[in-house]
Amino acid sequence: MGIADKIAEIKKELNENVKLVAVSKTKPVEDILEAYNAGHKIFGENKAQELSGKYDVLPKDIEWHFIGHLQTNKVKYIAPFVSLIHGVDSLKLLKTINKEAKKKDRIIDCLLQFHIAEEETKFGLNETEAEEILNSIEFKELENIRITGVMGMATYTSDTEQIIREFRHLKNIFDTLKEKYFSSEDAFKEISMGMSGDYKIAVEEGSTIVRIGSAIFGARNYTK
Ligand SMILES: *Cc1c(COP(=O)(O)O)cnc(C)c1O
Repeated sequence: MGIADKIAEIKKELNENVKLVAVSKTKPVEDILEAYNAGHKIFGENKAQELSGKYDVLPKDIEWHFIGHLQTNKVKYIAPFVSLIHGVDSLKLLKTINKEAKKKDRIIDCLLQFHIAEEETKFGLNETEAEEILNSIEFKELENIRITGVMGMATYTSDTEQIIREFRHLKNIFDTLKEKYFSSEDAFKEISMGMSGDYKIAVEEGSTIVRIGSAIFGARNYTK
């Protein structure tokens, strides 16, 4: 099955309220064009320079999402065009995004990333840290960023019950933040959860954005 067929298959399984981000990291622009020519316009990358290189050569109506850990010194590469930054997990990063967005006269949408998995290596905030950010005066002064929801990654496991628990945790965090901080902001509505191995569970648990790479483009080869 080709890339376009795989995207069509996955879209059939998602209801229309769920956005599909095709994660094209490490994959060549030809693969992205194959999906694009079949009508798919939303792609995700996790390296700032790779993303900006692909942005330069690909059609300008692509909606680019940054999905990984973003270093502050790399924000400048993507600030001119990025649609949504999924992995924001510090006030320092938010301030940098705000600064670079301001230079470009933009407001950049961001998701707060939460640590919901068991693994220690994954990035993300806990609820206390997130509330510290949201309550801070510095945060309230940022005019060129907008928080539109939350993002998280479940543990890489075959234990379905555990994955369900972790996604429910993220949904709960979203509901709490919505009520406490964003009840009057319609834009705060996204829950980015679900990858190739667990997106069906994520959608059951309330995901609004799934980030799917290998199930569309095939396994990644990191050895080159
Ligand atoms: C790579 C990546 C994905 C996609 O992973 P697949 O298992 O290939 O679908 C999703 N989210 C993040 C943050 C990633 O880094």
